[in-house]
Amino acid sequence: MSVPYEFDIAIIGGGITGLSAAYHLQKLGFSRLCHFRKDPDHSTSIQSAGFVSGGMADNFTRLSHPRGIATAKQIWNFCDLAYDTLLEYLQNAGIPHQTGERLRWMVSEAEVAEAHKAVQQLSSEGFTASYEAATPHVPGLSSSRWLGTQKEGSRAATVSVPLLLQNLSAASKVTLLGEAQSFQSTGGPITVTHAGGAVHTQFLICAQHLSLGGLLPNLAESLVPYADQWSEFQLRDRTRVLPWKPGTVFSWQHSHIWGVITGPNTLRIGGGRYLRAMAGIEAKVASYEQKIVQHLAEVWNGLWPELLIETTGRGYGIRDCRPCDELPLIGPMFGESRVLLGTGYMGQGLSLGFMAGRCLAELIADKPTKLPRLLWPERLRSLPSDKGDES
Ligand SMILES: Cc1cc2nc3c(=O)[nH]c(=O)nc-3n(C[C@H](O)[C@H](O)[C@H](O)COP(=O)(O)OP(=O)(O)OC[C@H]3O[C@@H](n4cnc5c(N)ncnc54)[C@H](O)[C@@H]3O)c2cc1C
Repeated sequence: MSVPYEFDIAIIGGGITGLSAAYHLQKLGFSRLCHFRKDPDHSTSIQSAGFVSGGMADNFTRLSHPRGIATAKQIWNFCDLAYDTLLEYLQNAGIPHQTGERLRWMVSEAEVAEAHKAVQQLSSEGFTASYEAATPHVPGLSSSRWLGTQKEGSRAATVSVPLLLQNLSAASKVTLLGEAQSFQSTGGPITVTHAGGAVHTQFLICAQHLSLGGLLPNLAESLVPYADQWSEFQLRDRTRVLPWKPGTVFSWQHSHIWGVITGPNTLRIGGGRYLRAMAGIEAKVASYEQKIVQHLAEVWNGLWPELLIETTGRGYGIRDCRPCDELPLIGPMFGESRVLLGTGYMGQGLSLGFMAGRCLAELIADKPTKLPRLLWPERLRSLPSDKGDES
């Protein structure tokens, strides 16, 4: 006897990906939706540093060198589109945000050489990019370490994440359920169990981020968890103003250190842990450590000695995950084509998670989507589809 579907689509996870999926599915006309969310919510999204930017965190050459220019261009375009799509939502919904420039500061000759190559490739592929050598006489910008800046135009912003998530959540009219425990799919309805029972659905969106591997064990080994932290700082000299406008997103040391200007004399910096000798990799929990706060202040003060900063005491230690091949994973799960997922945004989860929610909704609705197929999870393993699916 066949079991009736109670829902067209079930979504697991109330971070940016899950909320965006619910929002976009409703925009596309789906109304029979249920959303599994944990309460209280400690999503990575709500704890993030609140910056959004185009392109990817690491330079264009990091993509073009191993994957070729055409693939790099496709991914970069998608990331730019994710930024534009989120910005449009922020503007239409009246969510406060400030836009600035995307800057990469170069502090070694190797980085400068890479920046020249990246700028040449980006420009010839039609992206905004330029390189400016350090100018010693700009007030507030003298630095013996700073060698130059790669500029990528105005695709950068700071946004109030709590307001963004609240807004998406309020726009959503879904059946809310608690934590999802397991699911089964047999070619008919997908059965998702939770503390209050079980529901049957035609499609399932897995947006539970760090818990994805629990429900999709075939993916678990491909997602590498890590812990990092961001910290907020202010200029020690309160009479000074930072020479970059709020909304400016910056990085240096190949984006190992990154941050965003949040006010005339305040900024957030992160990245002190990731890729430092074993720090953070495979972490089971995230901690917020004073030695990292001190490290972030020291590296900034070493770079900009005329703009010395001190901590405001705000910040978060967060766990995130990176796919083993360092590209976002968005699309149908291999072997389970009615189970779709989005994760592994390489530090840019606000824009890419928002875009993932939109693309997953488009895939389910069978609408045209800008999602490059190379971001589908199928690139990690090739498994036949589940019974009853044609793809
Ligand atoms: C230090 C640091 C700072 C960062 N800052 C930024 C930033 O400023 N800008 C940016 O773009 N990116 C940033 N990122 C990355 C970004 O935060 C993440 O990529 C993004 O938030 C992931 O969103 P998500 O919706 O996929 O996951 P999450 O936001 O983690 O949401 C997943 C949700 O699923 C829920 N859940 C889990 N299991 C279940 C279950 N079984 N049933 C129901 N619910 C479940 C969780 O409780 C959670 O609410 C940062 C990362 C780090 C480490």
